Parts: sequence; C-alpha cells; structure tokens
Amino acid sequence: MTTPCVGLKPRDKKNYLKNKKKSGKNMEAKSEFRKKVEDFHIEPDVIKTCYKCSKCSDNCPITAVTTDNYTTIGYNPRGNFLMTLLGQENLLLGGDDLVIWGCTVCDTCDEVCPENVELTEIFTFLKNQSVALGKGPEFVYSQTKTIFENGKAIPSQPAIERRREQLNLPKVIEPDIGEIKLLLKNMGIEKKLK
Ligand code: SF4
Ligand code: SF4
Repeated sequence: MTTPCVGLKPRDKKNYLKNKKKSGKNMEAKSEFRKKVEDFHIEPDVIKTCYKCSKCSDNCPITAVTTDNYTTIGYNPRGNFLMTLLGQENLLLGGDDLVIWGCTVCDTCDEVCPENVELTEIFTFLKNQSVALGKGPEFVYSQTKTIFENGKAIPSQPAIERRREQLNLPKVIEPDIGEIKLLLKNMGIEKKLK
C-alpha cells in the first residue's frame, strides 16, 4: 500500500512522521478529555444527542449581555459544549475567564434543551478542571478564602448589623467556622487555595 510520505525528501519525511505522531497524541488527548466529560455527565450518552439547535445560547442571559451581533465575542454555552465534544481542552481552559466562568448556573439552558443535555454539569466539570490546574480566575480563590475564613461568602459588617437592629430584625446566627473549615479541609479545598 502506498504511504502518504512516499516521494518526500528524507528530512521532510522525518518531519511528516514527527507531525503525524504528534497529531496522533493530540487526538488521543482530545478523546480522553471528551471521555472524562461524558463520564461526568449524569447520562454519558445524552451529550452525543445535541443537534446544534442553539436554544441553549439563544436563551442564556449571559450570552444576551456579552455577545456582539455576530456572536464572535462573549459567552457562548453552545460553543463551549461543542469545543468540549471536540476535546478542545486548551482552548477552553486556557482562554479568557469569561469563556467558562461566565456561566452563573441559572439552569436556563438545561431547561430549554430539547435533548435534555445537562449543560451545567459539563460547565461544572470545566470549572473543576480549571481549578484543579490552578487556572481559575482570581475572584474564585478570593471568594473561597472568604468562606474558609468566615464560614460565609459575605462576612458580617457593623453597618449591616446596625441596619438590622433598626429594622428590629434578629441577630444573624454566626456559623460554626471551625466546623466549616474542617469540612473544607477534608474536601481538599484548602490545598487548592492559591
Ligand atoms: S439546546 Fe441542547 S440540543 Fe440545542 S444546541 Fe444546546 S445542547 Fe444542543
Ligand atoms: S446555566 Fe450558564 S450557560 Fe446555562 S443559561 Fe444559565 S448562565 Fe447560560
């Protein structure tokens, strides 16, 4: 059988084989990434049924406020989903924070998808991967540190306490910070904080 590198000069043939090997490895990495996503999805086979209707992006509130008329910029759940299926890990995890962190997990896309794809599960997987690689945006780490130190995302402030008193609202019960820290440590969160 004729091979594609027949007729190439020795140096070109060497490059051809090197690139072929590299491209084979890339394909393997892409398939592995896709497999991980499929395994993470509640029903692995469902994500193969997307027929690109774009209902997810058409109804996403973040897409509505971040894209231009040509959808060349901004947040795009359908685009993220397609890149995930194509195993484009580097494009997804190495891009602008908005690429995957724009999702607010409002669940609208899950509700409108005619194929019952749980897109938010896929996006959670991507966010987890981003943090595991230490590539999460700064606000995620600082918010997590706040929860770790205070047991809640927004610590009590004297102004809020005074306002509550004026409105005759009861004091907010403070969380057990020690217990929350222990939980987060056991979950390995502390090690992921920058
Ligand atoms: S709404 Fe569902 S089927 Fe349509 S493009 Fe999005 S993921 Fe695919
Ligand atoms: S869950 Fe995320 S991707 Fe889906 S509609 Fe809401 S913001 Fe958009």
